[in-house]
This record gives sequence, C-alpha cells and structure tokens, in this order.
Amino acid sequence: MNTILLDGKILAAKLKEKLAAEIGHLKNSTGQVPRVVSVMVGNDPAGLSYISSQQRAAEGLGIHYEVQHLAATASQDDVLELIEQLNSYEHVHGIIINKPLPAHMDFNALINAIVADKDIEGMNLTNLGRLFLGANRLIPCTPASVMAHLHSTGVDLKGKEAVVIGRSDIVGKPLALLLLQEHVTVTVCHSGTLNLEEHVKRADIVIAAIGQPLFVRGSWIKEGAIVIDVGINRVGDKIVGDVDFPSVQLKSSFITPVPGGVGPVTSVMLMHNACEAFKVQTQSN
Ligand code: NDP
Repeated sequence: MNTILLDGKILAAKLKEKLAAEIGHLKNSTGQVPRVVSVMVGNDPAGLSYISSQQRAAEGLGIHYEVQHLAATASQDDVLELIEQLNSYEHVHGIIINKPLPAHMDFNALINAIVADKDIEGMNLTNLGRLFLGANRLIPCTPASVMAHLHSTGVDLKGKEAVVIGRSDIVGKPLALLLLQEHVTVTVCHSGTLNLEEHVKRADIVIAAIGQPLFVRGSWIKEGAIVIDVGINRVGDKIVGDVDFPSVQLKSSFITPVPGGVGPVTSVMLMHNACEAFKVQTQSN
C-alpha cells in the first residue's frame, strides 16, 4: 500500500499562514487584533509548558496573549470572579482555562462561567449545544484538528464509515458530531464495546482516541483506510500513539504519526477559534 503520511507540522504551517493573513486583514480593517487571556491556577509543569507553547503560537500569528496566573491556593470563587471580569472586558475576545487544575476546582463550572463567544476551547454547554444542533461556532480544538487532517486528504467523506474509538467529552463525542455533519456513518466505540476489532475492520476511517499505547493493530485495518491517531502516551522516554504505527501503515492509505500528527494542528485550532471569537465580537468578517 502506498501510504501517505499526514504530517501535522506541515498542515499546521499551512493553516498558520492562512490565519496570519486573516488576522493581518482584520487588523487593517478594525485597528485591533484578537486578544486572549489564559488562566493558569497553580504551577503544574505540563500546564506551564502548554502556556509557553500557546504564547509562541499566538504571538507568531499576531494575536495578543496574556496569562492570569493564580496561586494553587486560590479558591474556585477567586477564579469565577476573574472570569466574570474578563467576560465584561470588551477588549478580551478569548479566555482559556488551563488544565490540570488543582483538585479543589471544577473545570466544568469554570468553563461554563465563560460567556459562550469567548470560550475559545469550545467546551462550554452553549458551544457544545451549538455543535449538537449543527450550528457550530467555536469547536473543541482536538476534534477540529482531526477534521482538518481528514479534509487535507482530499477524500470525499460523504458516505464513508468511520469508527471513533473513545467517547470522551473533549474528543470522541464532539468528533462523532462533526463527522455526522459531513454525512459520514459513525460508530463510536468505548471500553464497553464488544468485538471492537470487528467494528474497526469495517471502517474506511479509523480514529483512535483512547489513551492506550499502540492499541490498534494492523490486522484490524481495512486495506486503504484512513487512520488518525489522537493518542499521546508516554512509554519510557518516548511518546507513542494509540495506533501501532508500523503494522497499521502497511494497510492504511493515509496515517498521522505520533508525535507530529494531530497535536501540532490542535494548537492552531485554538488560535483559529480566537480569530473566530474576535470576528463575532467585533462583527467583522
Ligand atoms: P479519556 O481517558 O477521557 O477517554 C478515553 C476513551 O477511550 C474513553 O471513552 C474510554 O472508554 C475509551 N477506552 C479506554 N480504553 C479502552 C479500550 N481498551 N477499549 C475501548 N475503548 C477504550 O481520554 P481523552 O479522550 O481525553 O484522550 C484520549 C487520548 O488522546 C489520550 O492519549 C490523550 O492524551 C490524547 N489527547 C490528545 C490530544 C491532542 O491534541 N493530540 C488532545 C486530547 C487528548 P469509556 O468511556 O468506556 O471509559
């Protein structure tokens, strides 16, 4: 099989170029740029590293980015008060709540306190409801990255059979809705699925979002299927996906690597959402 590697770094660079041009155009027409505030509570190293990469991505695109950093001892009410202030500032277009949060905080309560049009992670109830109704505005970033990879193949998705492995609120479920909107026939598998392998064998498109290293095997893959690996698993000193890449690539027509597949495009999608949020709030298109 002549397999094509879906290189996330190349796709991210193309999407960034387009986005930077759009932000430049918006700056010329409105005299403003999108402004994002990222809320960090505590000092978790993974959270801090994610903030640095968000900052680099934003600044490279001409988006104003700032961090509101609260101590790990801050209360949920302190964060809610900050969100209320940010909601009220006309010059703040996007708000991010960084994870992991300290154990005493409730992510859902915080994300739902953000006004929907500033929720650039696309995770509050209004944005998920819009997605459910097919009236998408701000889409969760990882599913958006998967869709961008699928579109980059140039394959007509209509009528294809997709199997999404994983039903989390952040990846599997929103992704299933996005695929349905493109007239794909979708099966969502999870830890209670019987004969998972048989479902995967039928699929023209396989999306693995499980969090189990090298779980999906080449022997499960239909010849010519498109395989998107969302998984990020640390095994020793290596990062691996949910897909056993060497065996799966022998059967697939397109495949994403890990690292360097879904991840790099996910961070561009966050900035894409910042741009969309800015347009909605300034009514500029
Ligand atoms: P969750 O742990 O929230 O969900 C995992 C899902 O996989 C659940 O629905 C679970 O089923 C299902 N699952 C777990 N084990 C099995 C199994 N043996 N057979 C069938 N289904 C199984 O994970 P996330 O959705 O948050 O993340 C999934 C992966 O994607 C992780 O590796 C994560 O690091 C990565 N990730 C990558 C991102 C990126 O941008 N590249 C962003 C977000 C996540 P059940 O519901 O029954 O428990």
